[in-house]
Amino acid sequence: MTGRHIRLTSHSGGADAPALRWGAPTAAERGPVVGTTTSRAHRNVIGTHSGAYGVYRALAVAAGSLSREHRADLTNTSPTAAIGPHPQWADPEAIVSLDPWGATVAAAFAGEIARGVDIRPTIAVTKAQVILPEVHDALAKARLIPDGRVLLDSGAAQVTKAALEPVWHLPGVAKRFGCTESDLRRVLFEETGGMYPELVTRSDLEVFLPPIGGQTIYIFGDPRALADPAVELTARVHDECNGSDVFGSDICTCRPYLTHAIEECIQGAQRGGVGLIAYSRKEGRALGEVTKFLVYNARKRQAGGDTADQYFARTECVAGVQDMRFQELMPDVLHWLGIRKIHRLVSMSNMKYDAITGSGIEVGERVSIPDELIPADAQVEIDAKTAAGYYTPGAVPDADELRKAKGRGLDR
Ligand SMILES: [Zn+2]
Repeated sequence: MTGRHIRLTSHSGGADAPALRWGAPTAAERGPVVGTTTSRAHRNVIGTHSGAYGVYRALAVAAGSLSREHRADLTNTSPTAAIGPHPQWADPEAIVSLDPWGATVAAAFAGEIARGVDIRPTIAVTKAQVILPEVHDALAKARLIPDGRVLLDSGAAQVTKAALEPVWHLPGVAKRFGCTESDLRRVLFEETGGMYPELVTRSDLEVFLPPIGGQTIYIFGDPRALADPAVELTARVHDECNGSDVFGSDICTCRPYLTHAIEECIQGAQRGGVGLIAYSRKEGRALGEVTKFLVYNARKRQAGGDTADQYFARTECVAGVQDMRFQELMPDVLHWLGIRKIHRLVSMSNMKYDAITGSGIEVGERVSIPDELIPADAQVEIDAKTAAGYYTPGAVPDADELRKAKGRGLDR
């Protein structure tokens, strides 16, 4: 590999690249997303596949363990459930951050693949059984009853799940964030340390595969029912929190709220409805875990202890902002699924609610986390969020309440 010329992409023509018409009504008219790193002339996007994992792919090539010419053998990888096409797929502004045709490229572009174009799925749909201690607990307390369909006697819940990589249509993303496309391109270029020169040199390339985490969805019940507004849909849109979701850290409500939502999804599916968890890789309000842990220390060491009235201020001191999740792109996955109505939204976040309803999806009831599921150390977070406008069926804490130190110190 040493001595080989570096192939700059910033000015190459891409004369053999398939055309991309975002929002076209069929896969053939839309054209395939081609992010290959081998056949440069075929590329019609900026960046490459697999989100952040593209860097690991590069490491595998650098280490000599992966041939850069490798093409995925997609035999038997097709989706286990058909999703769409839905009317939203043909609206270029309804979906701007994923490729609605990303699960079916092997079938939709079989001819192009046979001719040697390296086209890869950006969505995969499969089936699984999920087994959670909280579900076992709900079974033991008879809050959940096995039905042999959604929930088995073993306590395993049957799901269809899908993984989605980000595929951004830059004009649409810019519009969501209220900035110009050229400003978005320049800032993305500069703030990634100049990682993608084509952002500023190739205005003809409108699609960007950003090096960020994607989304995973879990569907309880019939996936086709998601698009039927007459079928009761229970849904939670959840942002990643490794500390709570996986390790059970008690400073926030993430895992208890997530497992409560799964219980609600199972019950909803058993009533003849359908359940959905949409999980986004946006660790620590998309600030990352290092920032998050710094904020925890700042909260717990401040004069007066860990109080709700300083909850957002401590984050802002460290990160410069309270939150970088920006829910503007989140509803895209709901539109990919054809959703028009969420009967029961298992979330208290006003930002998520506003993004979902603002995108044209009707929301019925909002389901808050039951008080008994809030860990003692997470009361600061819940108080701060409800005072800031999160939905609650209960009382909003007043200023005196917010000044009480409710979080544990670092030494206990
Ligand atoms: Zn959390």
